[in-house]
Amino acid sequence: MTVGFDVIGDVHGCYEELVALLGDLGYAWHRESLVPPAGRQVVFVGDLVDRGPDVVEVVRLVMAAVRGGVALAVRGNHDERLARALAGETVKGSASLDVSLTQLARVPPTEREDIRRFLGGLPARLALDDGRLLVVHAGELKSDDPEERERFNVWGGATGRVNAAGVKERVDWVSGYAGSALIAYGHTPVLAPEWRGHTVNLDTGVVFGGQLSALRYPELEVVSVPARRAYASTAHWRALVAGA
Ligand code: MN
Repeated sequence: MTVGFDVIGDVHGCYEELVALLGDLGYAWHRESLVPPAGRQVVFVGDLVDRGPDVVEVVRLVMAAVRGGVALAVRGNHDERLARALAGETVKGSASLDVSLTQLARVPPTEREDIRRFLGGLPARLALDDGRLLVVHAGELKSDDPEERERFNVWGGATGRVNAAGVKERVDWVSGYAGSALIAYGHTPVLAPEWRGHTVNLDTGVVFGGQLSALRYPELEVVSVPARRAYASTAHWRALVAGA
């Protein structure tokens, strides 16, 4: 029986850091199976892929853990876009997507298809602990339209404005969130796990040279490991670090 969750932020192909963090949380990774501490389960907030050095290794680990009943994961915007690209859809390309496609080109076609189905089939939202813990990638939107809500869970929203650092502003759904469930999410990198109201942002920018972070639930303790190095950069991250 699961008595606790370890919710992990955006991994983006950072396999070494993921294995180190899982080790610190008491999990043992044996290349084919992830062995949890008693009563614990991992939950990924999505964005397993793109930007980082070991996309295939990360997805293999997560697939094995999910199929073994040791982990759950929601779908991030990068996971969805990669799944669509692998399905042959024309998606808006980017350097971060090309990183994954290049690495996946070395994988046998049957495994690539398995990865596509896995990433594309991840749920947009998980309600855990009888609804007291919600896990989404980008955010939560109050909407009667399930499709609109799901799109926001995975992709978030843009205000259409650009800030002083030249970064596209994202919709601040947190300030409007008044629900009773704790929402753990990722998507927008921050320097340290950020608590605002009844939400916590766990994307601490490991792929940019930040950290990979986990929230232990229900303990509400944060465990982080530092990035071995910076694998990618964005205007958002540079502005964040410059302002620190
Ligand atoms: Mn991300």
